[in-house]
Amino acid sequence: MPDTTRFPDLFEKMDDLIAMAERCFQQGLQTNAGGNLSVRLDARDAIVIKPSGVGFNECTRENLQVVQLDGEILPSAQALKPSKDLDFHLGLYRIRDDINAIVHCHSPWATGYASAGLEIPCLTVQTLEKIGRMPLIPLSPNGGPQTEAEISPVFRNPQIRAAVLANHGAIGVGKTLIAAQYLAEIIEETAHIAFVRDTLMAARGKAQADLPQYGTAADARAAR
Ligand SMILES: [Zn+2]
Repeated sequence: MPDTTRFPDLFEKMDDLIAMAERCFQQGLQTNAGGNLSVRLDARDAIVIKPSGVGFNECTRENLQVVQLDGEILPSAQALKPSKDLDFHLGLYRIRDDINAIVHCHSPWATGYASAGLEIPCLTVQTLEKIGRMPLIPLSPNGGPQTEAEISPVFRNPQIRAAVLANHGAIGVGKTLIAAQYLAEIIEETAHIAFVRDTLMAARGKAQADLPQYGTAADARAAR
């Protein structure tokens, strides 16, 4: 187990991650052992991340992995490999000081949208307020999964808090795990609403629908 003198918040962050992974699993945003989530430790130069091959509802203090931002994997109670997506998690923490947590799940509505090559529209006022825009990141040029090379450039824009990976899943980032998890939930909810809207519009032969211009009444008032 990593040194709790160096990481006094280690168990607190592990327990937060375990609870958030369970929430994500219970909501059906992630089944089987796919997806991953991580949280930055107060020391700033290391994270806790889900191991590869372990389900969101199977995370424990023993199987979670601690990895330094320079890529060094610290010894853990169970010698498992960190998530396959470790590199993109490390990449995002390195380029964005405001990111302290990442939730990445293969949520079906969002992934379906992205796999059709469609960016999910910010069609609810809450999505506009909380996310603003969720770019679609295509597969790697060789047809493989998106890596740090495709994902980091998108998040270099400090306004970006969420993105959707074609044929893969969604990413929410935040200052805390619950903030990142809320974004993962909003992405999926928005994709579901977008699908209902688009299906009904196609069925009724409707070409246009309103999109909100402001996320909150205060924003709308301020713009007058
Ligand atoms: Zn994934």
